[in-house]
Amino acid sequence: MSILLRVVARTEQFGKGIVFNCHCCGQCVLSHTGYVCPMACPRQIRNGPCGGSMDGRCEVYPDRKCVWVRIHKRVDRRGYSRPSLLRSPDPKLFFTSSYLNLFTGKDKLARTPIKYLDLGTNRKSSPIQTASTLERKLKEGRFIFTSEIRAPRGANPEAVRKQAAILKGHFDAVNATAYLNGKPSMPSSMAGAEMVKLGVEPITQSVCRDVTKTAFISELITNKMNGVHNTLCISGDFYQGDPCVKQVYDMDSSLMIYEARHLREKSIIHFTGEAMKDPPRPFLACAINPFTTPMNVPIRRIKQKCAAGADFIQTQIILNVKTFQEFMRIFREEGLDNELFLLAGLPVIISEKAFEMMPGVPGVSVPPEITRRFKGAGDIVKEGIACAREMIQQVREIPGVSGVHLMLFGVKHEVLPQVVDGLREVDVQQQEKIANA
Ligand code: SF4
Ligand code: SF4
Repeated sequence: MSILLRVVARTEQFGKGIVFNCHCCGQCVLSHTGYVCPMACPRQIRNGPCGGSMDGRCEVYPDRKCVWVRIHKRVDRRGYSRPSLLRSPDPKLFFTSSYLNLFTGKDKLARTPIKYLDLGTNRKSSPIQTASTLERKLKEGRFIFTSEIRAPRGANPEAVRKQAAILKGHFDAVNATAYLNGKPSMPSSMAGAEMVKLGVEPITQSVCRDVTKTAFISELITNKMNGVHNTLCISGDFYQGDPCVKQVYDMDSSLMIYEARHLREKSIIHFTGEAMKDPPRPFLACAINPFTTPMNVPIRRIKQKCAAGADFIQTQIILNVKTFQEFMRIFREEGLDNELFLLAGLPVIISEKAFEMMPGVPGVSVPPEITRRFKGAGDIVKEGIACAREMIQQVREIPGVSGVHLMLFGVKHEVLPQVVDGLREVDVQQQEKIANA
């Protein structure tokens, strides 16, 4: 870059830095973000917030406001309009002058929001589109139970087999979590492949923190080859340990969903424009934190993920059913219950140590009544099972909830079948009632 261009870029960064906290990405999208710079987000995502934002604060720097909550407030203070889908920034343009790039047209593509696909309406009632058993069950109107296993930190699949065997027959699908806290482990896709061999329907997790666009599409191809047909697209907790590792964020979770859905619908890789033979066609999940405030923020974010191509939601941990009911009221009012299946994320707390750690989980706030309940519990396993069962019964009464996703806080997977014992039969009875009506 010539000295003159560098001087122009630095001068622009200095001026915009004072006014907008500019990070010199060279492809300014301030006009789409209410003149709040999205690059001030530690994840530098172009569509947010991530699930870790709590009470308008940032997951990474709790002393700061979440940039993306500020953006939603500026763009649509209390409304529920659908946000534009912004592209990932082009790294070639970083530290160049955005004004000059605008003038020469170099940043035109990077600044132009992506056109949403035409996916129609009433999507929950659309014909089955993938090979996912979970999709079929949801579209049959069954109340769904999912849970999760953790991919081991090593190459021995025995740990996956053991956990999956415990859950088999009790859950409709099982997530394979991996790379917990950004640390290496067996990939989710490989744990998913093991589950398929056991006859367990897997939901693999793809994490924006850890994969580039290329690696993500390759993960989807691996999944298809292994008979895995469900994928959850998430940001991933921000890695805060030492030594520091590079966190990719080549996409945010909305862009990840869009890439996968574009491939499924058009057999074309969106970011390269190339056609693909025998493309993966996953049933796509997104995550949402219903407790991000103000409440229009998660609703606007769902609208974006829905338009990007998500099929179902697995929510962040719910500990406050009353607030969740209010969230679901708006969800229904906005017609999202016709478009997306929603599985309510519920904790199964069976260890004191795990309970102590809960307030530190990004995006989770523990209400005082739950703290009182577990602090005073004589037998925490018994209390954890009872609490989870009560919550299942409460959330299944909420219109628009299609199932539950149970997250274990502890290590004994044997507890999970006990949590759902007898509750799935209720579902079967209801189905029979519907069929006979
Ligand atoms: S969007 Fe880019 S150019 Fe605009 S203020 Fe932020 S970092 Fe600077
Ligand atoms: S909470 Fe998440 S989206 Fe918001 S500023 Fe922090 S890292 Fe970015």
